[in-house]
Amino acid sequence: MAKKTVKKTAKKAAKTNKMVYAFGGGKADGNGKMKELLGGKGANLAEMAGQLKLPVPPGFTITTEVCTHYWNNKKTYPKTLKADVEANLKKVEKLTKKEFGSEKNPLLVSVRSGARASMPGMMETILNIGLTEKTIPGMIAKTQDERFVYDAYRRLIMMYSDVVMEKAAGIEPKDGEGIRKILDGMLGELKKKLGVTDDTQIPAEELKKLCVEFKKTVKKVLGKEFPDEPTEQLWGAIGAVFASWNGKRAIAYRNIENIPHDWGTAVNVQTMVFGNMGETSATGVAFTRNPGNGDSHFYGEYLINAQGEDVVAGIRTPSPMNKWSSNAHSAHLPTLEKTMPKVYKELDAIQKRLEKHFHDMLDIEFTIEHGTLWMLQCRVGKRNGTAAVQMALDMLKERLINKETAVLRVTPHQLGELLLPAIDPKAEAAVKPVAKGLPAGPGGASGKIVFNSDDAIKLQAAGENAILIREETNPEDIEGMRAAAGILTQRGGMTSHAALVARGWGKCCIVGCSELELNPAKKTVTMGGKTYKEGDFLTLNGTKGWVYDGALKMLEAGEGNKNLAAFLKLADSIRTMKVRANADTPEDAANARKFGAEGIGLFRIEHMFYGKNSDAPLFILRKMILAGNEIERQAAVNELFPYMKKSIKETIKAMAPYSVTIRLMDPPLHEFVPTLHAKQLELAKALGIDMKTFQDRAAGLHEVNPMMGHRGIRLGVTYPEITEMQSRAIFEAAAELIKEGIKAVPEVMIPLTCDVNEIVKQKAIIRRVYEEVVAKTKVKKLNFSVGTMIEIPRAAVLAYEVAGEADFFSFGTNDLTQMTFGFSRDDIGSFLPEYLKQGILQADPFQTLDQRGVGMLIEHAVAEGREAKPNLKIGICGEHGGDPESVEFCHREGFTYVSCSAFRVPIARLAAAQAAAKEALAKKSK
Ligand code: PEP
Ligand code: MG
Repeated sequence: MAKKTVKKTAKKAAKTNKMVYAFGGGKADGNGKMKELLGGKGANLAEMAGQLKLPVPPGFTITTEVCTHYWNNKKTYPKTLKADVEANLKKVEKLTKKEFGSEKNPLLVSVRSGARASMPGMMETILNIGLTEKTIPGMIAKTQDERFVYDAYRRLIMMYSDVVMEKAAGIEPKDGEGIRKILDGMLGELKKKLGVTDDTQIPAEELKKLCVEFKKTVKKVLGKEFPDEPTEQLWGAIGAVFASWNGKRAIAYRNIENIPHDWGTAVNVQTMVFGNMGETSATGVAFTRNPGNGDSHFYGEYLINAQGEDVVAGIRTPSPMNKWSSNAHSAHLPTLEKTMPKVYKELDAIQKRLEKHFHDMLDIEFTIEHGTLWMLQCRVGKRNGTAAVQMALDMLKERLINKETAVLRVTPHQLGELLLPAIDPKAEAAVKPVAKGLPAGPGGASGKIVFNSDDAIKLQAAGENAILIREETNPEDIEGMRAAAGILTQRGGMTSHAALVARGWGKCCIVGCSELELNPAKKTVTMGGKTYKEGDFLTLNGTKGWVYDGALKMLEAGEGNKNLAAFLKLADSIRTMKVRANADTPEDAANARKFGAEGIGLFRIEHMFYGKNSDAPLFILRKMILAGNEIERQAAVNELFPYMKKSIKETIKAMAPYSVTIRLMDPPLHEFVPTLHAKQLELAKALGIDMKTFQDRAAGLHEVNPMMGHRGIRLGVTYPEITEMQSRAIFEAAAELIKEGIKAVPEVMIPLTCDVNEIVKQKAIIRRVYEEVVAKTKVKKLNFSVGTMIEIPRAAVLAYEVAGEADFFSFGTNDLTQMTFGFSRDDIGSFLPEYLKQGILQADPFQTLDQRGVGMLIEHAVAEGREAKPNLKIGICGEHGGDPESVEFCHREGFTYVSCSAFRVPIARLAAAQAAAKEALAKKSK
């Protein structure tokens, strides 16, 4: 598959030929729709510059197709690229009236990555390209600011040596020994020596000396001179960005986010504007609405006299944009609104225009150079689940979007966050936090503390919750952050890497917790006067930013959340498919209703023999299974009857007036044979047989391949009295409920059908019992239906015949997947990981429906079934019923309902609504 796509893209590159797209000066070659070719950043820069005529520093974008070419052709470029880049650089020079490499009036550029989907912090950026021994004097003369120029130069050396000379060259230093760390250390030492805390306090002369030392160190550590040619710097940076597409952390991120590896990144080369030119300059990151809670206020952070990387890296605590952006850490700092009111007003007007233009919340990056505002980037902003729901509802109210779009604005994953655990407020009220940081990711998490990514991964693999504590996270921590239940960092602001990534995932996260005294080497952290070591428990409240000692009690989330209820109501108004739950007890049924289930799509009758209060019925069931003849079996069946009736009755009552689909007994009987000797003795005694006879009968039940053995409807075929008893329990329960004034229309479901004749035979028993019950109870209007599960490929293939005898189909995709693949659903663990690793399969087919194979059977069965019976009710009750992608498939196939476990009902409601919304929007766009 991957190969095919790459080929296609390469062909396209040859066809379009244009490899470089210019933007700036109120014009752009591209536009916002060209994300595939220009990447998200490039497309939106073009849109801002060309369509919206916003102040965007001029530049150009090298397409993603060049990246694909680069990787497909041993890291080389198409022949004409060099000339194209030169021509576009000339355009930029013309617009800026500067010259790249000029000794008098040098142009400096940034080189940034920008893939189709945003991958925050995963790829590279290099600033201040074009600064050399020759251009430095020119820059100093132009800016009259020697300190600024050497600060820019030391940044270039730091970034370039790290990104181009080390990472892109494939050098993999040990943790903490990379060139960037070494140079950072030198900078830190210098500050210490000078007795200053802030970079901006280092005088020009010292910075100049530092640059000399930096270059010596680069030569010593990496064995190469730092390049002093502007063009060499530029091409080095372009190559490093393309190379970073296949860097370790970028690959890891794409794997997690399911981003195809063959998309490639674009490269944006853009005129440098400087936020570090003194007190009238600044740089910042902002969101058109609050990405943490969805409030519709402009929200963001900025730093005076700084470059963009300083805000994101979390080295200095940024100041708030306005009063809505201030928090416990930044409340004392002046807002942009106060310090630069004119620029703030301009920026505020731009952000409003951007939201109207893009109809979504945007994440923007800007720089103020000597009081002039420049827009560096805008993209749809990442947000957590709480914020996504709030924004969708608000934007709908503001008529910025329609209801279909509103429903599509919250991913099932984000909705899941609102259903995630939170700390029990009672438990939380009883204790005091031991530290406070910034609330970067929502919800609560408690677990054992670890101090590096590997340990977080190990702990998760062992089935435990990890709280990952880091000084600040960097993109290398990505897998550990994913594995951790919660993240806590000492440094960083709300737009730091950890915050951005955690918010994207909806992970509980606290950043900038400066009161931590961290010792990663010893794996200890001190806060609130106590030292914690690895493995100790902490609890985080990511919504408040508070840290607690120990493991506090957690709550099930979702309860009492008004926005969640309103949003789901909106989703319900759009979806056409019903959503039912798989529930086996009255408690399950009540719970499922809380989550919005509209009936039970699968009541597994045998589940009354597991769990609470199951000892007595289980004992009788075992007698039934181990009975030696029909008389013994009938006696046990009679004994079992009242339990079964009670269980069915209470569950139907809990779900009334919605329907309940009751599935006849399904599992292989031997599963119920006791293994404990004491239990075996007790059972043998009750049956009046000795242990030898008991063992013989149990051995007789043994099957080589039980999943394909004596189970499902085969039990009813061999022991009709079992079907009879179950039918009687169902109808009597329903009759009694009807007499109590409760609606009960049982749907009897036959499992594991392979031939229509099985249904014919079973239906005869069911109908006979029905008539007996009606006669006995004299109840009027006892309606029922009899349908079947489609779990065996043969039943799907012969669906036309099967539908002739069935009132409904319910796809049991657990078994259907098992039998279509020939993969045992219970033993898949031994080989599936290898199938995924080798790319033979893209996903676990037991989690996400295999739409190509199993889906084809379903498609056929639906078509044939509906041909035989146009109104045939069709549902799904396998695990896939709660998987968003599979739910969308069911919608497309015209299913009546999906059924899934209670906790997944809200997700399925949203997924069903999104499938309907997509269809409606596609129709509208036609
Ligand atoms: C199925 O096979 O999809 C199903 C729902 O039945 P069970 O999981 O009980 O076999
Ligand atoms: Mg099944």
